Amino acid sequence: MVHEVLHASLLLVDGRQESLLTLEATLAPLNLRLVTASSAEDALRRVLHEDFALILLDVHQEWEEGLVSARLLREVWRSRSTPLLLLTETPEPARVKEAHALGAVDCLASSHDPEVLRAKVSVFIELHQRNAELRRARVALAEREERLRFILQASGLGHWRLELPTRRLEASEGCKSNFGVPPDWELSSYEALLSLIHPEDRQGMVNAVERAIATCADYSADYRVVPPGGGLRWVAARGRVECGPDGMPVGMVGITLDITERMRGEQKLGFLSEASRLLTESLEPDEALQRVARLAASSVATYCVVDLLQEDGGFQRVAVAHQEPSMEDVIQQVRRFTPRSDVSTPVAEALRHGWTKLYTDFTLEHRRQSAVSPAHLEILDRLDPHSVLLVPMKTRERSWGVITFARAGAAERFDEGDVDMAEELARRAASALENARLLRTTQEAVRLRDEFLSVASHELKTPLTPLSLKLHALARSVNDGGLAGLERRLPGDVDVMRRQVKRLSDLVNELLDVSRISSGRLSLALEEVDLVALVHEVCSRFEPEAERVGCRLQIRSDGALLGCWDRLRLEQVVSNLLSNSIKYGAGKPIHLQVGAGERGARLVVRDEGIGIQEEALSRIFGKFERAVSERNYGGLGLGLYITRQIVEAHGGIIRVESAPGQGATFTLELPLGPTR
Ligand code: ADP
Repeated sequence: MVHEVLHASLLLVDGRQESLLTLEATLAPLNLRLVTASSAEDALRRVLHEDFALILLDVHQEWEEGLVSARLLREVWRSRSTPLLLLTETPEPARVKEAHALGAVDCLASSHDPEVLRAKVSVFIELHQRNAELRRARVALAEREERLRFILQASGLGHWRLELPTRRLEASEGCKSNFGVPPDWELSSYEALLSLIHPEDRQGMVNAVERAIATCADYSADYRVVPPGGGLRWVAARGRVECGPDGMPVGMVGITLDITERMRGEQKLGFLSEASRLLTESLEPDEALQRVARLAASSVATYCVVDLLQEDGGFQRVAVAHQEPSMEDVIQQVRRFTPRSDVSTPVAEALRHGWTKLYTDFTLEHRRQSAVSPAHLEILDRLDPHSVLLVPMKTRERSWGVITFARAGAAERFDEGDVDMAEELARRAASALENARLLRTTQEAVRLRDEFLSVASHELKTPLTPLSLKLHALARSVNDGGLAGLERRLPGDVDVMRRQVKRLSDLVNELLDVSRISSGRLSLALEEVDLVALVHEVCSRFEPEAERVGCRLQIRSDGALLGCWDRLRLEQVVSNLLSNSIKYGAGKPIHLQVGAGERGARLVVRDEGIGIQEEALSRIFGKFERAVSERNYGGLGLGLYITRQIVEAHGGIIRVESAPGQGATFTLELPLGPTR
């Protein structure tokens, strides 16, 4: 250890100048700072301004006077503890005794050997230096202790000491705060500590303590604490065993830290990553949600229920799970009580507002609000949730449903800290649902496209066969019989060929229209049009075809019905509806009715043909959608799609009513002029 060289000062008090000089000369080799005072007053002044390692008072023969000076120096606070060494010419035992009584450390003869004086002075100087060092060490120690106390406090650490034979425990305030008990709580024994530890973690902690004592090794244990005021905390305890001189353990010292936040974070992260895995693993959303509910009920909740929003606005309860296997029957019954979306139940509210609803205290009143029937209330009473967390699952496009997490029994109540985790899970579940929907849509689109390609190639090929047959026949007639044979068959063959070419060009036009609609290029050339005249005109064009299949076209209308529409597009709409009625009309009459309607103009096209299955009614207006087998009927499944696009571009609507074998009625409502 390196000793710091201290600069000690020595006060020499002597009324005689020459003896002061002698003293100075004697002590000079000690290399000290020597301060001289020629009188008691002078000496008092000096001690008021400076600390001395030693005061040397030479009293000569004036012993009584010297004692007065010595007393004065003793009485001054600053020099009270400074060693005082008296020099006198005759240090008789009585005087030495008197000097000691006054508090002087010694009384020497002034005529003493200089060596002896130097040795004595050196002893006191060294003592002074040691004292100064000790004082500094004490100050440093106090500072270090203060720093340590601050660090412990700022870092939330608590400290403790366990006396081994007695099991007496000393726990700091920080330690008590880690355990969730007030500073005046009697945490003074190992048993009191154990009573605070979660029953499931108690044995683990005891084992860790005993292992550390048995092996004299460090102690480490993380455990849950159940404070008397409720709630649940996680505490990390670290410590070490202290051994006595005989090597036997006598105690343990250590620290504690509240790690609740960290443990909750880890638990939530673990839950979320496992839930994500489950959600992405299965392509069946209901199955994935059931697995997530089971996971939630085994980690973050006592039970979990998932309700999905249906197309019709109602809920479907797709997943339920309870932590306790003994409650399986009860939780399965919950499936029967799907919440109503039209009344103000907590689930419906969470969905309507798109907000998470946290019920830290799920009261009997909340239970009553949630129950859809007395039987449901009975089940809720058996489940007995004390806190509930409802989170809506939503993506930017839509709401998907609600996840309900509930805790019961000894489980800690949900609080704000659980909301983030629940919302994150709901986000992941909603995006899994969205992905599943996209996948379904994509698969359906691919299926439709494949079906379309097969239908389209068949449809495009159908007119080509009669066309090429007729061309061959014509060529053969020219070769075989010359112009006479040709003239005979030409009108009929040309008619057939014209019809096939028209069919081909209609198909190609339909395809072109679809591509126009898809790229938003369907523009309308508006002009004044008489809808009644237009319907008559289109019907007259279809007359021959209708006649061929035995359909009668019947039109009912009164006078003209003028509006501002795109003539050619409207002709296309009427043609599509009429050609479908002829195609699917089973040779029965077709009724067309034109007149005023709720939006302005109304056109109804009704046939008495094969009709449409209910399942297909909403989809036949979609792209490539067909409701008949391709073996029996041709068609690209585009006519009604294009029709609806044209009608909607005019601000109108089209609807269908039909049943299999009952014919079909298509109704068109059109405003008389542009609506935008
Ligand atoms: P397609 O070219 O296949 O007829 P559409 O888009 O015009 O295509 O019609 C779609 C589907 O709607 C048809 O495949 C058919 O199943 C059904 N459909 C349309 N009109 C009628 C109708 N008048 N009677 C019965 N079914 C019809």
